[in-house]
Amino acid sequence: MTNTIATTRLTILLPAGRLPLALMGKAQELAQKYQLEIYLSTLQNLRIMGILEEDLPMIRRELAALGAQFKEPGRFPLPRVCIGVRDCTLGVGDPERISALILEKFKDRGKTKPKFKIAISGCTLGCSGVRNTDIGIMATRKGFDLYVGGKGGTSPMAGRRILRDLDEQEMLTAVIRLVDFHDAHTGSKQRMAKLINHPDFPYKNAV
Ligand code: SF4
Repeated sequence: MTNTIATTRLTILLPAGRLPLALMGKAQELAQKYQLEIYLSTLQNLRIMGILEEDLPMIRRELAALGAQFKEPGRFPLPRVCIGVRDCTLGVGDPERISALILEKFKDRGKTKPKFKIAISGCTLGCSGVRNTDIGIMATRKGFDLYVGGKGGTSPMAGRRILRDLDEQEMLTAVIRLVDFHDAHTGSKQRMAKLINHPDFPYKNAV
């Protein structure tokens, strides 16, 4: 009989997929010291895997001392972004900035239901998956388009474009309305795809 050693993992949240150099250095140092694996997750976070339970508090403390925030139930999700106008010749918008605006708006909101995701793209190609995410914010030459109800998984669905040509404030107002709707109509976990045909859903028609 083989003995397998139980290990755990720790996910460091990286707003807009940016990895501060100090955290990168510390993650490498810890990975070498404790023989750990580092994985860049599909939601653009950094996961450290293979941690022995007894090492977790120390590893967590060392990362937290550098300002690391960790994935945990109820936290508002970090938007997945593309690089946008900062480093893409097709970009017209800056998803990093929009992500920061949204996180600032929702930073005090606790108990966000699981499975809910946001994506932001810097142009209409939508590389960050804005059309297959619960809420997708797409920068265009005229402002922002908003998609809702996209998903992947075994029954993928394209999101419905519910609003077009929004300015920044209009976009934020609509996102707040959608998040509130999701919160009010979700018991435990729920994809927006299940809510867009609800009788009270505020944006019934595709545009
Ligand atoms: S969505 Fe547009 S801006 Fe973003 S990476 Fe793709 S092509 Fe570039």
